[in-house]
Amino acid sequence: MRTYPYVGPPDIAAAARHAPPGTGLPDPAALAAWLAEQPSPVGPFTYTVGADETLRLADRRSEHVACAGGGAVLAAGEVTFGPAGGGRMRVVEVSNLSTGYCPDTACWPAVAGALAAVGVEHPGGFTQAVVFRRCRGCGAAQVVREGFFVCVFCEADLPERWNLDDRAT
Ligand SMILES: [Zn+2]
Repeated sequence: MRTYPYVGPPDIAAAARHAPPGTGLPDPAALAAWLAEQPSPVGPFTYTVGADETLRLADRRSEHVACAGGGAVLAAGEVTFGPAGGGRMRVVEVSNLSTGYCPDTACWPAVAGALAAVGVEHPGGFTQAVVFRRCRGCGAAQVVREGFFVCVFCEADLPERWNLDDRAT
C-alpha cells in the first residue's frame, strides 16, 4: 500500500506539532475504551491510518496531520460509528476527506484493514469518496466535483491520476 505525505498548508503542520496526536487503536478493546471516553461515542471523528497500519482517532476538530503525529499515512478521513448490536460498533459513514493528506480513493484497503483490526463492520467502501487532484497549470489542490476534471481556478484540465504529491509543476 502506498503512503501519502502531508500536502496541506505548512502553517497547519507547524501548529499541529503542538497538538496531541490521535490515539492509536490496535484492537477492539482499545477502540471500545477510547469511544467510551468521548462526548459522543459515535463521532464523527478524524481518523488516520499510519504506516504501521494502525487506526488513529481524534476529535473531529483535530487536523489530520496532528492525528497522524505529523507522519505520512496510508489513509485519512472522517468516520462515524453506530451500534451493531451485542455491544459492538459498526461504521455508518467513512470518507477519505482530508485536505491535509488528500489521499486517493484507492486507499480504501488500508481503511478496511485498520477497521477489521478493531473489530467493526464497515460498508465495504467509502460512503463518501473524494477525488483530489493538483492542477498542473496553477498548482492548486482541489476536489473534483461530479467527474468534472477541470481546475476551478484556472480552467486547465486536471490529471486522470492522483498527483497531489507532485510539487514540481
Ligand atoms: Zn489551475
